[in-house]
Amino acid sequence: MQFNPERFALHRQAKGMSQGAAAKALGVSQGRISKVENGALRPSDQLLIDAAQEFGVQREAFFGEDVERGLPAISFFRKQKTMGMRETRKTEARFSIIRQVVISLAAGLVELADRRVPRIPVSTPGETPASIAQRVRTFFQAAAGPLLGLTRMMESAGIIIVPFVDTHAKFDAVSCASPDGRLDIVAVKPGLAPDRYRFSIAHELGHLVMHTMPSETIEDEANQFAAELLMPAEDIESDLTSITIPHLMELKRKWQVAMSALIYRAKSLGLVSEWKARNAYITMSTYGFRKKEPVELPREEPQLFTTLIVRHLAGGKTFDDIAAQVGLLPTTMAREFAPVLPAGLR
Ligand SMILES: [Zn+2]
Repeated sequence: MQFNPERFALHRQAKGMSQGAAAKALGVSQGRISKVENGALRPSDQLLIDAAQEFGVQREAFFGEDVERGLPAISFFRKQKTMGMRETRKTEARFSIIRQVVISLAAGLVELADRRVPRIPVSTPGETPASIAQRVRTFFQAAAGPLLGLTRMMESAGIIIVPFVDTHAKFDAVSCASPDGRLDIVAVKPGLAPDRYRFSIAHELGHLVMHTMPSETIEDEANQFAAELLMPAEDIESDLTSITIPHLMELKRKWQVAMSALIYRAKSLGLVSEWKARNAYITMSTYGFRKKEPVELPREEPQLFTTLIVRHLAGGKTFDDIAAQVGLLPTTMAREFAPVLPAGLR
């Protein structure tokens, strides 16, 4: 296999390092790193060994075909403005690596799901984000009312949900389909409150179903999709006639969505006035509920990635073998995927 300068740059960026910082850490000139990355210079074996150690990858990770980059265009469109160049590059590079890991581990195993979630472009005549959300509920055979166990439903359609550790504060989740279209990946910041986690994966599901191109409206559309998926207008209407704090706490328990999301939903469905909604937000702030809401909800835990690892282990591989297969050092693999590794490996 050939040394691939693009892969070298990818792993440096995933580490959040500038060329200058990498040069310093590796004890070479910045010019040398620059030449290595634009293909003008074949790096020495020692440089590759040192760089692999520094970037937390196997030396082999610098060899082979290009890693599919990007797409997070869809989910990144807005965030780029607040994240800055270095952080954006780092997040994009790390997501590319996560995606490659998932694809590599899923390859060769039996099909993950019998059927994939439908693709319905938001531009389809007669459809809206809400009507598409209803179609997806039908696809999941969801009963009317609260949508419980969304994680399990998405996983049943072959959507692999993995953690995205150490991401930017502004960043909750990102998603994409694999290049061959065979599987979908959603990466979510670990430790989100369960209601926020559920809304985030519902939002990403909206992108997967409705969007292939970035535009000014996709974020709003994904939010409308998530709102209807989790709180169908027809089913929730009768619950949202009052938005007092005790009632919102009760509804949060029932619908497993944030109290702030319930207020927003009541307002956008025209069930309460703008003024009432604003008052509810103010009351929430007074109690400190805008920062941290009351009512602990049960946490939905993704399992599909764990299952993939377990299948590889059952096939006779060790954790080190698995890390080697995906090009990461075992320590890197353990850090990146800790929340979804089988119990004995965390
Ligand atoms: Zn989005």
